[in-house]
Amino acid sequence: MGHEFIGVVDEVGSAVNDLAVGDFVIAPFSWSDGTCKNCEAGFHTACVHGGFFGQGGDGDGGQAEFVRVPHADGTLVKVPGTDFSEETMASLLALTDVMSTGYHAAVSAGVKTGDTVAVVGDGAVGLSGVLSARLLGARRIIVLGSTHEDRHALAREWGATEVITVRGEEAVEALRGLTDGYGADAVLECVGTKESTETAFAVAKAGAIVGRVGVPHDAAVDAEGTFYRNVGMRGGPAPARAYQPELLKAVLDGSINPGQVFDLSTDLDHIADAYAAMDERRAIKALIRVSDR
Ligand SMILES: [Zn+2]
Repeated sequence: MGHEFIGVVDEVGSAVNDLAVGDFVIAPFSWSDGTCKNCEAGFHTACVHGGFFGQGGDGDGGQAEFVRVPHADGTLVKVPGTDFSEETMASLLALTDVMSTGYHAAVSAGVKTGDTVAVVGDGAVGLSGVLSARLLGARRIIVLGSTHEDRHALAREWGATEVITVRGEEAVEALRGLTDGYGADAVLECVGTKESTETAFAVAKAGAIVGRVGVPHDAAVDAEGTFYRNVGMRGGPAPARAYQPELLKAVLDGSINPGQVFDLSTDLDHIADAYAAMDERRAIKALIRVSDR
């Protein structure tokens, strides 16, 4: 909770070389040294000196006036420029987790130009997955999502061509009906439940990869069912730090606007309301403003 933050550097430790007081930075949701073999391979969430913000301990979360960032040189990304609009600030915040996570799903699933892509889930990450699939050149993007119209609207704005709102076997049938019975060339699993995982693998075309970023909850993958169709799986906690430099450029040049997932903005004193709104699906994702700086 609260592992997604952007902010201004207030103080630097003696081992920090690349950052200075006053720098405006975005953080990934995990810290990493940027130098171990896992970081070099682009899997910063598996850094041997890393950890996740907002889970207590060393790097406590961003729902606070101040946060201490371990391995700051390896972790933080400095944003060039100043005086950004509210929209741009929201989009920079989206890069700390949801947009980077949706992008990881699309990259892991191997989305390429001309693909028909299935995105399972239309929460903030699923919607970011839609935007990412479009960035990677998908021709058709089919969302398997909720019945919430506000989410459909944003999904369509970001490139979804079809939205399926039924679930389970019905959803699988519906997707197959849209793809001549074959299924999708690439699948983004952005939920992590047993049902969403089963659906994701069931709608994958032979040879397709399921890029999964939903934290698994009681979900299992059928070894035999995936075997005969040569269906693969990649993904896990997104190495947001690996994608932030390129996604930052895309935000600053205006080619993506992932901050649109934040449809509620409040402050630390009203944070419980934000959680309630997200829990009751009145909001997709809440932005918490801690300081005016
Ligand atoms: Zn590392």
